[in-house]
Amino acid sequence: MVDFLRELGIEAENFGASAGGFFETHGPILESRSPTDGHVIAKVKQATAEDYEHVMKVGMASFEKWRTTPAPRRGEVVRQIGHALRAKKEALGKLVSLEMGKIYVEGQGEVQEMIDMADFAVGQSRQLYGLIMQSERKFHRMSETWHPLGMVGVISAFNFPVAVWSWNTFLAAICGDPVIWKPSSFTPLCAVAVQKLVDQVLADNGFPAVMSLVIGPGSSVGQRMLDDRRIPMISATGSNQMGERVAVAAAKRYARTILELGGNNALIVMNDANQDMALRSVLFGAIGTAGQRCTSTRRLLLEKSIEKGFVERLVNAYKQIKIGDPLDPKNLMGPLVDKSAVSDMMTAIKAIKEQGGEILYGGKELTGPAYPGGCWVEPTIVRARPDMPIVKQETFAPVLYVIAFSGIEEAIRIQNDVPQGLSSCIYTESMSHAERFLSMVGSDCGIANVNVGTSGAEIGGAFGGEKETGGGREAGSDSWKQYMRRQTQTINWSGELPLAQGITFG
Ligand code: NAD
Repeated sequence: MVDFLRELGIEAENFGASAGGFFETHGPILESRSPTDGHVIAKVKQATAEDYEHVMKVGMASFEKWRTTPAPRRGEVVRQIGHALRAKKEALGKLVSLEMGKIYVEGQGEVQEMIDMADFAVGQSRQLYGLIMQSERKFHRMSETWHPLGMVGVISAFNFPVAVWSWNTFLAAICGDPVIWKPSSFTPLCAVAVQKLVDQVLADNGFPAVMSLVIGPGSSVGQRMLDDRRIPMISATGSNQMGERVAVAAAKRYARTILELGGNNALIVMNDANQDMALRSVLFGAIGTAGQRCTSTRRLLLEKSIEKGFVERLVNAYKQIKIGDPLDPKNLMGPLVDKSAVSDMMTAIKAIKEQGGEILYGGKELTGPAYPGGCWVEPTIVRARPDMPIVKQETFAPVLYVIAFSGIEEAIRIQNDVPQGLSSCIYTESMSHAERFLSMVGSDCGIANVNVGTSGAEIGGAFGGEKETGGGREAGSDSWKQYMRRQTQTINWSGELPLAQGITFG
């Protein structure tokens, strides 16, 4: 067992549930394998239905005390969790790289994002503001106030195994809600490590089980959460297939959802752009996290007059990308998360060829002794047409489609002509191109940037996307409101009983 795993309290075999502390679970063993070489890092005993029930019971009990705790005091607990994360940033970031496969700097960045989110939530805990409205009736006061909602269920994807949990959990916590977390089965150890830090801080502050964990398959443990009437809100991050299941199950019982689903993000380069900057953004956007970010750049839209030169430079840059062990700082790309992700990418490459796409670079699986474990691929550049069906899908791998266009209107039309609506950007030095892109006739995505790539959002803004990306918003701005229930209150101190709209009754 490597040092950083020991530092995080990871054992050879771990229990898969915590509510006020880890307890003995009774489900089947889940082996967490490193995508780097396929070795088993450690095992987790998953949760059964009974284990889930225990977590929910203890978690629900914590709500009574937590919701009546002043919000700034709740913020203080989150502040301490932020500190605990600071102390373990190096180790936890390394575990993210080892278990998920993103490179060292990205693993560290993911933990930094949690720390930033904790700081943000601490400040927000003193700003859960309501409103006072003007009543139409004399000597009445109308106001709007925000109350804790109840247990929040967080279902997270493998590609951000810890940060997305913190976006939801830190806000839910300062809003007075307990949280139950079901992480991806590809990254259970990241969740165990975070939960251990959190359990300690919660215990020190006398609030055990405000944040709890349950590890198990989506189809059983995850589905149980979706159907559980004690959970008024599910925040789910993952594929569109999963999002549909969440939406239907939640609608049946009138639960709220935050859905953060697939993206198909375009980067537009106009012929007046700073091409050096655009090129660097494409590289990070398309190759970062081996193309497994929801915000990964999947489509590169180039104005016809610059297409040839830009593609040549891009192919040259791809040739220099070092692929290998994500914990080795010289490498810029690690493995895909699993062999199934490799076969999904190879299926997409076949479809690309059948649909008339031209592979300009890459397109193959990487094998041989330098690439053990079966999860390695070449980053790939494809010359494509925007109407190819495969271009409209999210292939969760480093495949970049290059598409030529003439003029800003065509660029925006192509950019918007996909079912997903997460992130988008334009590189231009023209104010009118930039303004058009950001206007009501511009990008239809939840995120629209000028001279900033599609990938790598700051936590201060509300994060999320439109259309099949699900419409959810997390992290900054006023995202906190989703974790609270709004109450409109009217107080009558007039001594009379006037009705609204001037109605006289009887
Ligand atoms: P996935 O859909 O396979 O799994 C996501 C989570 O859902 C896992 O925890 C899984 O166990 C759970 N799950 C599966 N079936 C379930 C069910 N029936 N009930 C409840 N839970 C269930 O996704 P993934 O492969 O882990 O992640 C990649 C996907 O996530 C990509 O499509 C990516 O774009 C998307 N993603 C979106 C965002 C965003 O903010 N929009 C962020 C990260 C990832």
